[in-house]
Amino acid sequence: MDYIIATHNMKKRDEMQRILAPLGIRVLLAEEAGIELTDAEETGTTFEENAFIKAESGCKESGMPCIADDSGLAVDFLDGAPGVYSARYAGEHGNDDANNKKLLKALENVDPAERGAAFVSVACCVYPDGRKLIARGECRGTIGYEEIGNGGFGYDPLFLPVEYGGEKTMAQLTADEKDAISHRGKSVRLLAKQIEEGNV
Ligand code: IMP
Repeated sequence: MDYIIATHNMKKRDEMQRILAPLGIRVLLAEEAGIELTDAEETGTTFEENAFIKAESGCKESGMPCIADDSGLAVDFLDGAPGVYSARYAGEHGNDDANNKKLLKALENVDPAERGAAFVSVACCVYPDGRKLIARGECRGTIGYEEIGNGGFGYDPLFLPVEYGGEKTMAQLTADEKDAISHRGKSVRLLAKQIEEGNV
């Protein structure tokens, strides 16, 4: 069975394809299926709600099973912000540069011990007959004091995953290294497992 991925974020889309392909799950980009997906309005207040909104909308528009991810960064010192608003933290949707600058400013003079954070991803799959699957993945780390590295996207240059002992940002990891520990790697692999097990 073919699945559609609903996202306009090319980097995110690449990651999802990269993680799902080796698991034997054939995913198509909307364009590959000759479909143009409209941007579903993310009106939910949780990652779960927004992931479902996107997957359901993509499924309805394409008539195919659709996988979507809703993700973001939850910073302890900011009581979980920017959270579901991560993409539009600085106002304009998806302006990574402005978002990172705003986050650095919000954590100015905050001690290393208080800079804990988690990347969160919820992956959801909705089928045309209404069945749905959902899986959550998290990756703990700390927020650095400057942007380092060119890989990944979004807040990656500021995020120091615990797995690398605060020595490397997510943006300094190779694609495979990021996928192995990332929130999206975890959520999408869990979702793939449910799909494989026919948990639908
Ligand atoms: P969404 O497209 O509404 O799910 O928003 C996701 C936003 O969360 C992105 O625009 C980034 O700001 C942030 N984000 C999610 N996943 C990652 C990641 O893997 N690295 C860096 N930032 C991320």
